[in-house]
This record gives sequence, C-alpha cells and structure tokens, in this order.
Amino acid sequence: MQERCRVLLRFADLIEQHADEIAALETWDGGKTLEQTTGTEVPMVARYMRYYGGWADKIHGLVVPADGPHHVQVLHEPIGVAGQIIPWNFPLLMFAWKVGPALACGNAVVLKTAEQTPLSALFVASLLHEAGLPDGVLNVVSGFGPTAGAALSSHMGVDKLAFTGSTGTGKIVLELAARSNLKPVTLELGGKSPFIVMDDADVDQAVELAHRALFFNQGQCCCAGSRTFVHERVYDEFVEKARARALQRVVGDPFRTGVEQGPQIDGEQFKKILQYVKSGVDSGATLVAGGDRAGSRGFYIQPTVFADVEDEMKIAQEEIFGPVQSILKFSTVEEVVRRANATPYGLAAGVFTQRLDAANTLARALRVGTVWVNTYDVFDAAVPFGGYKMSGVGREKGVYSLRNYLQTKAVVTPIKDAAWL
Ligand code: NAD
Repeated sequence: MQERCRVLLRFADLIEQHADEIAALETWDGGKTLEQTTGTEVPMVARYMRYYGGWADKIHGLVVPADGPHHVQVLHEPIGVAGQIIPWNFPLLMFAWKVGPALACGNAVVLKTAEQTPLSALFVASLLHEAGLPDGVLNVVSGFGPTAGAALSSHMGVDKLAFTGSTGTGKIVLELAARSNLKPVTLELGGKSPFIVMDDADVDQAVELAHRALFFNQGQCCCAGSRTFVHERVYDEFVEKARARALQRVVGDPFRTGVEQGPQIDGEQFKKILQYVKSGVDSGATLVAGGDRAGSRGFYIQPTVFADVEDEMKIAQEEIFGPVQSILKFSTVEEVVRRANATPYGLAAGVFTQRLDAANTLARALRVGTVWVNTYDVFDAAVPFGGYKMSGVGREKGVYSLRNYLQTKAVVTPIKDAAWL
C-alpha cells in the first residue's frame, strides 16, 4: 500500500516536471487553449494524483460485531481488472479521475482512450511507468469504440467497467457488461444543465459566469450550463449583455495567448453543432449572436447566443456540445424548478442569487449531482461528481470513487474460549 502511495506521488511530481509537454500535447490533440491546459488541466491532474496517493495507504476494512461467538472481518480488496473508457473532451482529466482511484485501491487497469485524443494518456502512462508502476498494471489501448471499447465492456476477464461519454454509448456498454459477466458499471454521461439567474442578480457578474459555464472548453463539457434560465425582471438586460460578451469572445489558434476558444474537436461535431444552430433558428428562437462558422477554415464556430428559447425546442432538450448558449425566461422559483428538472438528464446546475433562502430551495429541489451556487465548474479531487437520471450511474472523485474499485469480503471465524464477547 505504501508503494502504491509512493508511485502516485512520484507520478504527480513527474506530471509537474513535464507540464509544458503534456499541456502542448493536450492542446495539439484536442484544440483546447494552451492557457487552459497549462493553467488548469495539467495542475489538476497532479492534484488528483496526490489526492489518490494520499488515500492509497488508508484503505482498510472493518471488524464488525456478530451475533454469537464469531470474529468477523470485513476486507476491502481490489476488485481486480478495471476496464475504463474515456471521451475526447477532457482526455487527461478523465485519465486522472479513472486511473487514480483504481491504482490507489490496488487494481490493474485497461484504459481505452477516445479515437480523437490518444496522445496525452499514452505519454503520461509512460511517466507512471517511470514513477515505478510495475509492467502490466496500467495498459492504455488506443482504439475505436465499437471494436476496442465493446471488447473491453464484454470481456470476461474485466471485473469492473467505468465509462465516460454519451448517454447512448453508456447504454450500450451497460448492456454488454450485463450480457457478459455482470461486471459492475459506473457511468458518467451527458447533461443539459440549467444555469438559473434570479431577479436579485448582479447582471454583469451573472452574464460573465453564465458565459463561462457554457463556453468553457468550446462548449464541449458534459456539465455545460446549456440552459440559461433568466428571471423576467433582469431578462432584457441579461440578453443584451450576454450578446455583447459572446461577440467579445476571442476565437482562434489555441496556442496563441489571449485566445479563449479554439476549434471544435472534429468535422463531425462541427457539422452537428451547426445543424443545432439551424434547428434553433427554424424553431423560432431569436439568434442574437454568432450562428455560423468562424473564419473560412478549421472547425471554429462563432460564439452563438439564442434568446427566447422555449423548453420544447430541440436546442433546449438535446446536448449540443458546442459554443451555443440558449437563454430562457422564467418568473417564479416553482416554475424554474419544474422546467429545470424537466429533462432526462440531471448532471449539474448553477444558481445565481444573493438570497440564501432561494439558493437553498433551489439546491435541494434540483435533481442533479452537483449544484454550484454563485460559481460554476469548480472541481476538486475530493468532491464527488456524477449524475441523476440519465446523466449517469455512481459517483467519481472523492472517497466515493474508491468504493467503485473495491470488493467487500466478510471473513467469519469462531472465537474459542473468549474472555469476553
Ligand atoms: P462517445 O460516447 O461517442 O464516446 C466515449 C467513449 O466511448 C470513446 O472512448 C468511444 O470510443 C467509446 N465508445 C463509442 N462507442 C462504443 C461502443 N459501442 N462500445 C464501447 N465503447 C464505445 O462520446 P464522445 O463523443 O466521445 O464524448 C462526448 C459525450 O460524453 C457527451 O455526450 C458528454 O456529455 C459526455 N461526457 C460526459 C462526462 C461526464 O462526466 N458525465 C464527461 C465527459 C463527456
């Protein structure tokens, strides 16, 4: 156990020593801005590894009282071989969320990267080896979903499956796991998260936070605040300022300083996003900013804002996974709770208000795995993350992630000639 701890801590040091190379690889592979990969993502990976390294020598079972003269130990054992499938939108962070707890708990891992973004995981896996991880404990596979991903999900030698990706694929891997060896499955899936701006909001601050909640990472976030609900009293001012902020957003080469938004991941997503924009226009939403490709080459999309969005429109129902903000008007807390909860998803929500009572009411009424109050996208290794409803099964990060990678065994022995029972 102490060796697991040492390996993960050394790995965190190596991540920091190679931070520039890792950040550049991640930007090159996925189009994220270098400021984001350097400033946020690489440091977070080191933090996650130290967090899980800290857990590695603190995982232990229990002794429980039993009826009669019996000594009962409950052992927490490694589950065995963990199969892990990750998406392209946060390749490094998803590597950290999955590999950290699995190794801390003493498991072997076969991790499949997304076909679009294999590089950073391959590179950091070599650093884990350098940190002292024995051969064969971590295996990174670059492969396609329906072949490599499906093989991992249905493999009889895989004891646990952790998946992050779309809800549709999540259902497929769950079924494959059930049809093979009934391996337990955790799923981190899609979302259509509400960001709720109450009538007491400082509009400038709310606009900036709602903007970041949606446009961060080119809008390619499972927990993107993709339905901006704004109270009718501040709605007009909010829409005007949201438009101005989107028009200011700097789109371009992700390696350039000051760029806020790089290209979308690939041509397929690029086309899909522009189809959603067309659907927004066709269904009667008001296009107040953007709506087209940015520039004449590459997969860049103009920061796009729709106002007057109605709940039943496709852009308010489905995950766009791109830089498209949809603004909806509401009048009461009861109404916004009902509408915010009326999707099959339940990953996250943002609430923007100075009123503690409103924040508490909303935080308890929203059926989501994370509620950010007056902030958004704050992640830490210790904080559980996951979805209600069709946004997922189980939780990652924090102490919750360890449970996914441990098997529980009861060992019962009789106690003979006990001095006490
Ligand atoms: P995706 O579901 O297509 O792919 C995710 C992974 O699954 C990839 O590695 C892919 O190769 C693999 N895969 C595809 N088909 C498979 C199959 N038949 N069997 C096994 N594996 C298969 O999703 P994506 O397009 O890569 O990622 C975007 C989606 O992921 C979005 O919907 C987003 O909301 C979701 N996501 C969720 C979270 C979360 O934490 N909840 C995080 C990131 C992304």
